[in-house]
Amino acid sequence: GHLHPAASGAAVSYPTTHEKIQEVKDTQYFVNNQFVTSATTQFIDLHDPATNNLVTRVPQNTDEELKAAVASAEKAFKSWRSTSVLHRQAIMFRFVALIRENWDRLAASITLEQGKTFADAKGDVLRGLQVAEAACAAPELLKGEVLEVAKDMETRTYREPLGVVAAICPFNFPAMIPLWCIPIATITGNTLMLKPSERDPGAAMILAELVEKAGFPEGVVNVVHGAHRTVNFILDEPAIKAVSFVGGNKAGEYIFSRGSANGKRVQANLGAKNHAAVLPDCNKNQFLNAIVGAAFGAAGQRCMALSTLVMVGETKEWLPELAERAKALQVNGGFEPGADLGPVISPQSKQRIEGLIASAEAEGATILLDGRGFAPEKYPNGNWIAPTIITNVTPSMQCYKEEIFGPVLVCLNVDTLDEAIDLINENEYGNGVAIFTRSGPTAETFRRRIDAGQVGINVPIPVPLPMFSFTGNKRSVAGGGASTFYGKPGINFYTQLKTVTSLWSSADAISKKADVHMPTHS
Ligand code: NAD
Repeated sequence: GHLHPAASGAAVSYPTTHEKIQEVKDTQYFVNNQFVTSATTQFIDLHDPATNNLVTRVPQNTDEELKAAVASAEKAFKSWRSTSVLHRQAIMFRFVALIRENWDRLAASITLEQGKTFADAKGDVLRGLQVAEAACAAPELLKGEVLEVAKDMETRTYREPLGVVAAICPFNFPAMIPLWCIPIATITGNTLMLKPSERDPGAAMILAELVEKAGFPEGVVNVVHGAHRTVNFILDEPAIKAVSFVGGNKAGEYIFSRGSANGKRVQANLGAKNHAAVLPDCNKNQFLNAIVGAAFGAAGQRCMALSTLVMVGETKEWLPELAERAKALQVNGGFEPGADLGPVISPQSKQRIEGLIASAEAEGATILLDGRGFAPEKYPNGNWIAPTIITNVTPSMQCYKEEIFGPVLVCLNVDTLDEAIDLINENEYGNGVAIFTRSGPTAETFRRRIDAGQVGINVPIPVPLPMFSFTGNKRSVAGGGASTFYGKPGINFYTQLKTVTSLWSSADAISKKADVHMPTHS
């Protein structure tokens, strides 16, 4: 295969502008620590969301290529599983250092392919880097348990890897989500086949290069490409023992049931509709900044975006100020200094979001701030939507029921905290929620009664750091969220317990007659 230019050790340059790329190169895939050009004839065009210029073509790997990637991971598993955890930790420390060294390059690839601002893309990398750092604690996290269960008898547990595992990633965090999987899957002794989003695989390809540089042996991490066809291959391949999925409900519910039916472990984080309840006693200035940042940052394309505002009592009078702050945000190409938010991912996505805004209007809501029809002067062809605020929304409206995944805040009015809690609890999603108040008892009542997996108290996007776990609930996870990402549950997901019971008694203590009843532990 052909080597990726960066893999040859040459000084790496990376774009920090949205200028048209003169010589567009196809994205390669990564197997056996090599960058390889696919033999496919099917490609998915990838456009810069700020300009709609072609950036690269992403291959739909052929079945033979996918099979070869699995075979490589199966072969690697045989020796990787019996390396010591300290050896794997040493490689992870180097991987962490390399991610830090390549931080800007990773972020630039994200800004170019995904559209988010360069500063925000650096945060995308950081949140993944922190998972890799936390994974370095594996020697502690992988310890088993031991108990003397009877005279001369003890039971011990071991955590063993599963084998080849796969990860299927969404477009909105091109570095963070692959890094929810690579570190924990590999430090526990598994080998991994990663499928980045076909809309922005660039960051995952840089991570592949760092995998090789960090000293992971061939085949421990392979990166393949494609859409449904690659996903179906993963779901039906018997050698793949577990699947991690992050993305929308349509794909995720399908992947959960087909993967589970094929006997695999599946962890799947899905869509969201995150609410913020605001109380009149909160710190108004802090709240206004928090909601504007969390609703419109990353153009609303975060699974934990605070996209739904429940205004309790007189807080509805703050709407003009809220609109003013939202309007002050700079919508621009992600490499432009001062840009607060970039474009949305695709023209189709822009069209879908504009359709939801129009539906709200038709259903009787008020468009307090309308971001349709905007484009920054320098980038007339991007997928732009400026911050949009829809007020007088009711729960039966389409803009309330669907995940919008764009820079759009929908606002509902209630009179009391109780009504706010009931409204939020009735929503089918349960990823994140936030409350803004200065009252301890109010926050405590909310915390206890609210039915969402991740609660922020005066914190707009309460994503748990990697020493905790990502704990969405209701329809924001498949399978009831039994297996959550990273933290101790992440270690559980990627390992199976082996429980060993042993008896060592001295020869003269052993009776001549066999016991036929179950022991009573007297
Ligand atoms: P998506 O579901 O369209 O795509 C995710 C992955 O699934 C991609 O790799 C894609 O190739 C594959 N895929 C898409 N449709 C498929 C199908 N019909 N059959 C098989 N495979 C399919 O999601 P997206 O648009 O990339 O990401 C946005 C979604 O992800 C939002 O709903 C967001 O809330 C969610 N998300 C959730 C979390 C979380 O932790 N809960 C985090 C990030 C994103």
